Amino acid sequence: MMKLLVIGGVAAGMSAASKLKRLNKDAEVVVYEKGSFLSYGACGLPYYVSGENDDYRKMIARTKEQFEEQGMKIHLRHEIVKVVPEKKQVMVKDLEKGNLFLDTYDKLMVATGTAPIVPPFLGVGLENIHVLKTLEDGILLKQISDQKDIQDVVIVGGGYIGIEVAEAMVRLGKNVRVIELGDRILQNFDKEITDLAEEELRKHGVTLTLGEKVESFIGTKKVEKVKTNRGMYSADLVIMSIGVKPATKFLEGSGIALADNGAVVIDREMRTNKADIYAAGDCAQVYHKVMEENRYIPLGTNANKCGRIAGTNLAGGREKYIGTLGSAAIKVFDLELGRTGMSEKDAKDFAIDYTTVMVRSADHPGYYPNQTPIWIKLICEKRTKRILGAQAIGEKGAVLRIDVFAVAIHNNMPADELGMTDLCYAPPFAGVWDAIHIACNAVK
Ligand SMILES: Cc1cc2nc3c(=O)[nH]c(=O)nc-3n(C[C@H](O)[C@H](O)[C@H](O)COP(=O)(O)OP(=O)(O)OC[C@H]3O[C@@H](n4cnc5c(N)ncnc54)[C@H](O)[C@@H]3O)c2cc1C
Repeated sequence: MMKLLVIGGVAAGMSAASKLKRLNKDAEVVVYEKGSFLSYGACGLPYYVSGENDDYRKMIARTKEQFEEQGMKIHLRHEIVKVVPEKKQVMVKDLEKGNLFLDTYDKLMVATGTAPIVPPFLGVGLENIHVLKTLEDGILLKQISDQKDIQDVVIVGGGYIGIEVAEAMVRLGKNVRVIELGDRILQNFDKEITDLAEEELRKHGVTLTLGEKVESFIGTKKVEKVKTNRGMYSADLVIMSIGVKPATKFLEGSGIALADNGAVVIDREMRTNKADIYAAGDCAQVYHKVMEENRYIPLGTNANKCGRIAGTNLAGGREKYIGTLGSAAIKVFDLELGRTGMSEKDAKDFAIDYTTVMVRSADHPGYYPNQTPIWIKLICEKRTKRILGAQAIGEKGAVLRIDVFAVAIHNNMPADELGMTDLCYAPPFAGVWDAIHIACNAVK
């Protein structure tokens, strides 16, 4: 009987375990998860903190008991501290009892995700300085932010987690400041799009402190102030969201190939350089369809798909990931933002001869009520007009339009072909020339 050992029990790990179990009922599946929860949607955490979701259990897709009913052996609060590929062995730490023991595998799935980056700033150990990564973090952050005396909230880092938390904190009635080292937020989007998102945040009372570097936290027991290179800001609560790194420190010295940032190097079948060891999700790289090389794009989209492919291949299959486009979306108050494929910076980095358009149109014709604007930016290869990337922002329908671009980019469509593609039209939904057509037909 084949024994699969899975390290990490959320998206990639449990997708692999479930797929393998479906394909091979007899396989022994053992999961080690260092946290207290399995298989939950971390993407829902900001909406639990804000109170839009009143019960964290709704974010749990399947419980330990449900996985056990399928015949898996699940160990929560157990951390893998070492992997020895030559002996097909792992060292496990029982986080409750504190003891170490060894376990063996025939095949190993590494799905340990990320760890938030928290630099050793002076005062970082003060109370009320938190991250939002795990369900445990979400539960704790909710408890703290529900306290009435927590008024001034400083968010360090203006990436998508920081911005989602900023909105959650505004909903809870806090004074919110986002401190970002770069000159703009959400840098996976181009400036034309983030300018509009920044305006929206300011409109809802969020203070954006851009181009400043946090240096230390000040307080006696609890955090009271955040000091940057340019100022000092009052804070009852600080959320650190400056980015994540792959949680692969325990693999150092194992011989498993890691990229410079620590991500596990895998092929399109999720195999590492070591026999019978697979990896997927946020701990690993992912193949990019447009860039035609591995990248580091830690998203739930990739983690679920790549985890499932790993499960197929652990069961003896040879499935290849068709590749990510880095498609991602975020809600910023009344606006939705979506992106897919290459950004303009990516096109520059790849030295592509590209052209861009940024077009403002609308979600549907003005003679039907509640028309709202949509801005679409396209990045296309100049010679062929092949669409390389698309970004959109608007109140309604922006993200679903990005999904259309994702399919077009995936299939190497040129802008003029998508500009004539037969999309749906009726006044409540779209114009006869949809925002997609209008943007595509503006590409020269
Ligand atoms: C607030 C927030 C919002 C998000 N929003 C979105 C979104 O809108 N869209 C999107 O696509 N993605 C989003 N994501 C990202 C998404 O949640 C992740 O991409 C996804 O969870 C990655 O799955 P994973 O299985 O690779 O890793 P994880 O979910 O990080 O799971 C890895 C697990 O491994 C465990 N582990 C780590 N090391 C060990 C060890 N040594 N031994 C045992 N267990 C270990 C960890 O405890 C963890 O539970 C969001 C994430 C957060 C935090």
